[in-house]
Amino acid sequence: MSQPSIMIVEDEEPLTLLLRYNLEAEGYQVSTAARGDDADLMLRESLPDLLLLDWMLPGLSGIELCRRLRQRDETRELPIILLTARGEESERVRGLSTGADDYIVKPFSVPELLARVKALMRRSAPTRVASLLEIGELSLNRETHRVKRGSRDLHLGPTEFRILEFLMERPGRVFSRAHLLDSVWGMDSDIDERTVDVHVGRLRKAINRPREKDPIRTVRGTGYSFDESFARR
Ligand code: CA
Repeated sequence: MSQPSIMIVEDEEPLTLLLRYNLEAEGYQVSTAARGDDADLMLRESLPDLLLLDWMLPGLSGIELCRRLRQRDETRELPIILLTARGEESERVRGLSTGADDYIVKPFSVPELLARVKALMRRSAPTRVASLLEIGELSLNRETHRVKRGSRDLHLGPTEFRILEFLMERPGRVFSRAHLLDSVWGMDSDIDERTVDVHVGRLRKAINRPREKDPIRTVRGTGYSFDESFARR
């Protein structure tokens, strides 16, 4: 399965960078445009799986671009999340009436945006966000929250579940404790990084019996990763 792709159309560069960083960490392929008219041209060349579209843009406003996209056959169904400024209730409604699928009000938290993106991806392209993650003998079902090793049901706490889901989505990639804190607990949590170790310890206890291969790899001085070789046993 190829990586789902997202295009960010936003003229505030720091926000674009923040979104790109976080979306790439989630496994999305990201393209960007800083002007509405540039985005319009790019979208005639190739289509992303989802569009994050700022309201106020130079060249062509997000609203106008959204309206145009909805008039073209190729982009009529393109999933669009509109980014709007705070306190524009009536405008926000107008945003949805121009055909955006969802909107999010600035300033927003990154985990909230990621959750919206995931939800819209799931609605619009359910095969892109598989409900069942399977690596080797380990399977994790996002819908039912059941985790199994072979035929054995594993009992994970909610945090352990999210850590495992996050790592299984990106096998082989190494994540620092700080990155895991951002992604699993949320950007503005001020939890100690050692908390990550505690939960990874619990996760290991839940999934490994003595002498079983540990799918979670500790990378000294860096963090954790889901061991790719676990798939090959
Ligand atoms: Ca803007």
